[in-house]
Amino acid sequence: MKRLAEGTIVFKDKVFEPNKNFFQPLSQQQHPVALMFTCCDSRVEPTIITQSPPGTLFMVKNPGNLVPKYQVGVKSSEAAAIEFALTMLNVHHIIVCGHTDCAALKALLNLDGLSRESSIYQWLAPHTDVLEALEDQRDTDDCLNELIRRNVIQQLQNLTTYPAVAQRLAKGALHLYGWKYRLETGETMLIDPFSCKPEPLSAVIAHLEEEARPKMTLAEMQRQVSEAQAPDDISI
Ligand SMILES: [Zn+2]
Repeated sequence: MKRLAEGTIVFKDKVFEPNKNFFQPLSQQQHPVALMFTCCDSRVEPTIITQSPPGTLFMVKNPGNLVPKYQVGVKSSEAAAIEFALTMLNVHHIIVCGHTDCAALKALLNLDGLSRESSIYQWLAPHTDVLEALEDQRDTDDCLNELIRRNVIQQLQNLTTYPAVAQRLAKGALHLYGWKYRLETGETMLIDPFSCKPEPLSAVIAHLEEEARPKMTLAEMQRQVSEAQAPDDISI
């Protein structure tokens, strides 16, 4: 915990202060580029893997990067986040990003091994439909990797059950993307919603819309800081 606490001081002194012109307007408003659903796994850090500074991603993290299907009158933090992102922040892009070695999806493969009373069981149990398309090889890494991809696509389908999502998709005012982050290599792949196969994001970058905002990546922010500070003082 000491390093976490020390990190807050390093951030304030060595990152925030030299980049005040960037951070201070964020204290008044936010205009995130995308709503991202990803896993609460500590190794999956969307701002790092997309090299995005604060203010870019409106994020929901939960075990297994799941999106509960829309149900009238049922409360969920996911539903509230979708509504907020679309109606208050006017976000036009939603990403669901899974990752390799996902413990939540390993648990989904072995749901019968969990107590019915466990919170993990109750969170995962409504999402077993994604298992139906899997081939009967539940103990292999291939099976887990297929599940990770199919789960991403299933969550994109679940998103379309939300009226606010469906309406904007119909108007062409919203775009959905399935991604998978590989912990082993640092790569993020695009998951084809039809074939469920991964392809490098680099293959589609040319077709993506450029954000209407000043370009500021974490690397650029870090470089600016390094010009004023000793390199080993920097910690992002
Ligand atoms: Zn996970």
